[in-house]
Amino acid sequence: IFLPHLVASMEVEETYIMVKPDGVQRGLVGEIISRFEKKGFKLTGLKLFQCPKELAEEHYKDLKSRPFFPKLINYITSGPVVCMAWEGVGVVASARKLIGSTDPLQAEPGTIRGDLAVQTGRNVVHGSDSPENGKREIGLWFKEGELCQWIPAQAPWLRE
Ligand code: UDP
Ligand code: MG
Repeated sequence: IFLPHLVASMEVEETYIMVKPDGVQRGLVGEIISRFEKKGFKLTGLKLFQCPKELAEEHYKDLKSRPFFPKLINYITSGPVVCMAWEGVGVVASARKLIGSTDPLQAEPGTIRGDLAVQTGRNVVHGSDSPENGKREIGLWFKEGELCQWIPAQAPWLRE
């Protein structure tokens, strides 16, 4: 079946989600991927990756003047991360809700940070904060050819 409206539409957004080094070390990769997968978003990119310092600094460039910036860069480069690109209608804001507040103690139970973390400096996951940053970050972390376009078998059962 060809369902073009389920594939390409103005509303379809992309977001960059990353399991941070603490999430990888704590064995939470499957759990975190599962939250987005079960919600019904489409995975278009996935890799385990040791982030170089320059990339971490570029990714978090808006936070460069903040006092925690050096510690943040150490944290993100301290071990492998899991890089993901997810696609869907409203995926950027929805992923931020699934992730929860930056401070895990303020994050609602049921969110990833609310359920799985206790400190801002070890908050297990990243999610883009706007559709523009979603595109920017996917471009930073993935090379062309690392992303896949595909139609999930469940597509017609997720959206009418
Ligand atoms: N961060 C930190 N201390 C702070 C604020 C942020 O260590 O006081 C870290 C934390 O890992 C956070 C990341 O910097 O996830 C990016 O900060 P941002 O405000 O963009 O939060 P997010 O978008 O990840 O919720
Ligand atoms: Mg942010």
